[in-house]
Amino acid sequence: MLLLAGGRVVTPDGVLDPGWIRLAGPLIDAVGSGRVPDQPTADLRGRWVLPGFVDIHVHGGGGASFTEGTSDQARQAAAFHHGQGSTTMLASLVTAPLAELEARAGLLAGLADDGVIAGLHLEGPFLSPVRRGAQDPRHMIAPDVAVFERLRAAARGHLRVITLAPELPGALAVIQAATRAGVTVAVGHTDATADVTMAAIDAGATHATHLFNGMRPPHHREPGAAGALLDRDEVTCEVIADGVHLDDIMVRLTARAAGPGRLVLVSDAMAAAGMPDGSYQLGSQRVSVAGGVARLLEDRAAIAGSTATLADVVRHAVAAGLPVSDVAAAASTTPARVLGLADRTGALSPGLSADLVVCDDDFRPRAVMRHGEWLTAAPSRVP
Ligand SMILES: [Zn+2]
Repeated sequence: MLLLAGGRVVTPDGVLDPGWIRLAGPLIDAVGSGRVPDQPTADLRGRWVLPGFVDIHVHGGGGASFTEGTSDQARQAAAFHHGQGSTTMLASLVTAPLAELEARAGLLAGLADDGVIAGLHLEGPFLSPVRRGAQDPRHMIAPDVAVFERLRAAARGHLRVITLAPELPGALAVIQAATRAGVTVAVGHTDATADVTMAAIDAGATHATHLFNGMRPPHHREPGAAGALLDRDEVTCEVIADGVHLDDIMVRLTARAAGPGRLVLVSDAMAAAGMPDGSYQLGSQRVSVAGGVARLLEDRAAIAGSTATLADVVRHAVAAGLPVSDVAAAASTTPARVLGLADRTGALSPGLSADLVVCDDDFRPRAVMRHGEWLTAAPSRVP
């Protein structure tokens, strides 16, 4: 049995300082503070221990992509993020021709079958060209239940989240069909008004895709999709708190308004995450990364996903002033709940999967454990 002791252990009930975690195979057996029940196998003094991050919006990383390339390359992208602390993740696809989306969904379903990823997120093709961001408007189509069912079938039961623009004709029918099928409907890349968004939530939408990004800016008399999504208690709100996509003031305001139970930190990472500046691909779109900021080659005003890992976002959110416990909830516990995995991962609690991230004082990951196995060098042993 592994016994990690001495660190600041972030649990749903608060930070145990110093705390300890006892593991039994792939699971957390017990968590406590104070007197350690046995001889520790790892000394985590001076370290933070956070639950493994759950990234529900990620397109790639480490030079590889979910949106194009081979199955091995997709596994490489997942392995990159696993090693950076995102022990659970969805693979997010962007708008593409239908046949291509079906093929990608089938390929990624293989990764989900193997437990490499927790499922798929379709960010498209039912999006608004008006708020396209870095997505390819040529392949955006009106929501259609038959098309949705085709894509869902291609994902072989692994489709978890679909982002759509609720103002498009046919959106309500797809929201209802997806909700019935147990697929989380996220509102995003949308020019919807608050009223239209409220109707989408009434129809079953429960999540906001990168709140504020890819939406009309809120106005005090027309709060738009962002205002409506933030207003409704049943909606979880993603933010890309990387210091590029959102001003920190908006991150803090959103965190306060949503609370840790509704805030979800995501990376929206693309292939360039963890890589040097240069040229990359996001679906059909060519992307140039300079100074760590990814932009479309053809439209430099469009930010094309992020180059951050969720660990980077966690570090930035803490630096922006969010309490560590709230950040852990938003990076792990709440997104695990969005995926219906709260009984398996997302918190340092007995009975859950031993998924954890050991961070230094600057919240840089120093060791990562997934399902009870160190993905990195194990932290130092107690002599
Ligand atoms: Zn995205």
